Amino acid sequence: MLRINDIIDKAQTYLPPEDLEMIEKAYIYSASVHQGQVRLSGEPYLTHPMEVAGILTDMKMDTATIISGLLHDTIEDTLTTAEQLEKEFGKDVAFLVEGLTKLSRISFGSQEERQSENFRKMILAMSADIRILLVRLADRIHNMRTLQYHQKDKRLYIARETIDIYAPLANRLGINSMRMELEDLSFQYIAPDAYETLSAQIAKSKEARNRYTEEVKSIIFNELEKYSIKCKVEGRAKHLYSIYKKMHEQHIDFDEVYDLIAFRVILDSDKEKTCYEVLSMVHALWKPVPGRFKDYIAMPKANHYQSLHTTVIGPYGERVEIQIRTKAMHEWAEKGIAAHWRYKEGRAHKDDEENQIKKLREVLEIQQDIKNPKEFMSDLKLALFPEEVYVFTPQGDVKSFPKGATPIDFAYSIHTDVGNQCIGAKINRSIVPLRYKLQNGDRVEIITQAGHHPSKDWLKNVVTTRAISKIRNWINLEEKKSSMALGRDVLEKEFKRHHLKFNNYIKSEEIKKVLTELSINQLDDLISQVGLGRISPKRVVNYFLAGEEAEVAEPVKEKLKKKKPASPSMGVSLIGIDDIDDIMVNFAKCCNPIPGDEISGYISRGRGVIVHTNKCPYIKKMDAERIVNVQWNAREEHTYPVGIKVVCDDVKGVLTEVSSIISSFDVNISYAQVETINLIATCNFVIDISNLQQLNQILSAIRQLKFVKSVEWLHHF
Ligand code: MN
Repeated sequence: MLRINDIIDKAQTYLPPEDLEMIEKAYIYSASVHQGQVRLSGEPYLTHPMEVAGILTDMKMDTATIISGLLHDTIEDTLTTAEQLEKEFGKDVAFLVEGLTKLSRISFGSQEERQSENFRKMILAMSADIRILLVRLADRIHNMRTLQYHQKDKRLYIARETIDIYAPLANRLGINSMRMELEDLSFQYIAPDAYETLSAQIAKSKEARNRYTEEVKSIIFNELEKYSIKCKVEGRAKHLYSIYKKMHEQHIDFDEVYDLIAFRVILDSDKEKTCYEVLSMVHALWKPVPGRFKDYIAMPKANHYQSLHTTVIGPYGERVEIQIRTKAMHEWAEKGIAAHWRYKEGRAHKDDEENQIKKLREVLEIQQDIKNPKEFMSDLKLALFPEEVYVFTPQGDVKSFPKGATPIDFAYSIHTDVGNQCIGAKINRSIVPLRYKLQNGDRVEIITQAGHHPSKDWLKNVVTTRAISKIRNWINLEEKKSSMALGRDVLEKEFKRHHLKFNNYIKSEEIKKVLTELSINQLDDLISQVGLGRISPKRVVNYFLAGEEAEVAEPVKEKLKKKKPASPSMGVSLIGIDDIDDIMVNFAKCCNPIPGDEISGYISRGRGVIVHTNKCPYIKKMDAERIVNVQWNAREEHTYPVGIKVVCDDVKGVLTEVSSIISSFDVNISYAQVETINLIATCNFVIDISNLQQLNQILSAIRQLKFVKSVEWLHHF
């Protein structure tokens, strides 16, 4: 069991004495708050934070990180608060432990491979300070080392999470040693049989392999010495998981894996050029295997790993893999991001430090400009993925959103219907307003209600393009729906006013022409355009009237038209139509035929026969097939009673004046009455007219009178 003195011994090699005191203080604090707690292994709980701190000390981490390792479970598992930690150990430590507490509360439930990357990003995003992630990795390593005390399914779950999430994170940070350990520990639980077999095979050949390793190492070393190249040559068995992966991927047996040992030349010098020189010496020594050379110096890996890799045919005709790198490259390869704390101690030049930070920034995809590297070092509150936030679905999947996203964005990312019917949200099981801004690690649950609709206000609370466009779609659709209903209503009324049935036209060829002429794609659009008031219903109906009955602006005439169906007999009795009985007859407004004119009838849709004069320009353009012969009935002139209402100023002699106009048309007035209210006189007449043209003329004449405000033809009188 690791003791505090072991940690202090390691720490004092690179930390000042006052820091060691703080570490000791943290140890005492941790011991007192974890007092009485035991691990599954039966050991005191304290052993765990101690081991974690030990791993961090081996990595030569800074004081705050080591202290955070000692205290990492105190907020989660004891009564300790962040305020207490801040008081005792300062802001930095409190911040780190709080971050670790948040990380410890999330776990990756999804088994889906594609979710892993998002989960890794979530962890990176939650590790606002990269040291949080480094402590988390150390924590995971110790938990993996002691995994045997867990139940079998729990072991498997943790091992999977480790290999899918934490090992790749270690790799991403360039910490190869952590990655290898995490992979091998996981491998042991995920594929125990393969692990056992492989370890046995390796153990069996161990002695021979050691002899072989020493032999190859000395050949390389001696060869380079001839050229006075100072270096270290290493030969190490590859970690089990990488061998297993190779066998698996290449479908080969253990015996066929030749390069079990990775040889490594680590130069004392930091000159890249020397790496290439060493390469050519090695190639002169042993024949290279074609296609196996990789130049990660010229083209570093995504995690900034740099090295030359080559495979040669070794002394026994076997394949030997050799890596060649400088000391700095090696440092990065082993410790990755953690390596830069070493530089903090002034072991390297400033150039290296800046270079290292540059690498660090690039590895972590940090966008913001860091002006002062020193400041950056002491205050490592990295904003990783500052523009993104990662949250869980109730199923444990991870979804990423732009910063500022709300539950509404989340709801629309699930399904349009979920978005549209979203009425509320629960974050980590408590209800939040829909404008709540999602935080990293939130578990989001959407509450929906069938029939609920989005509102325009939602647009203020969403940031994803998907949500924005879905809400806009819905609003547009609703507007269209209501404009459709309105447009249809208005059009039907307008058509009806002209005794046409809108529904009879909607599939006709004529309507298609109208659509083309108005540059409208489909009927629905025309209807909604009318509903939105962009096209007047009159304009539409005019297309259908043009030939038969062009719209006439004069209100009186419109009224007349409107009233026609009320007395269809008016036309019938006046007009005779060849071979046709009992059909509605109307007179065209374009030419106003009067008895005596030469006339023709046009069979209209819905308005019976329209009678035009033969001189009418419209009838000439009409479909000849639909023109019928009509004639005036040669009989005594009939008269029809018609009610009219005249509204005018109450001046003297109103009734006489209007009456004399009517009489001047040689029309009988069978009833007259005047009512005066507030200096406005309303005169009602019933007059006997012989034809509509006559009525029309009478009404026009009355309208000409100065004091008349309006003239109306009354349907009911
Ligand atoms: Mn822990």
